[in-house]
Amino acid sequence: TIGMLCIDEKDDISGACTTSGLSYKMNGRIGDSPIIGAGLFLDNEIGGAVATGMGEAIMKSVGSFLIVELMRQGKSPQEACEIAVKRIVKQNSNYKDFQVAFVALNKNGDIGSYCLHKGFSYAKYQNKKTSNNPSQFYI
Ligand code: ASP
Repeated sequence: TIGMLCIDEKDDISGACTTSGLSYKMNGRIGDSPIIGAGLFLDNEIGGAVATGMGEAIMKSVGSFLIVELMRQGKSPQEACEIAVKRIVKQNSNYKDFQVAFVALNKNGDIGSYCLHKGFSYAKYQNKKTSNNPSQFYI
């Protein structure tokens, strides 16, 4: 999955999410990426969030929508991503052998990211410079 969040000089937020889906997926499986609220959600008043990983877990938590709503309630992008991953951990308490990861951006341009298992990273492009950032993780 490739998820992208952008904020422009007018503080307008945009985003995109695209995927080839999971390996060995069942014929007809759609996954979370094209489902607004699951793989991607934006509210130009608040910010946006994108997801990658096990789409079934992301859909069950409506993770990207959850993150934007948490930011609406005052959480930072980092706090909101952590809450979403911990919600997924709770919903899948006897099975954690999958990855989920979120990246979020708010109207101030603050970024957060959190994943279930170590190993997810995201790139930030600002002022013509790119940095690669390891995500914080639960396990
Ligand atoms: N989220 C995608 C899906 O479940 C897969 C991925 O992130 O690689 O379809």
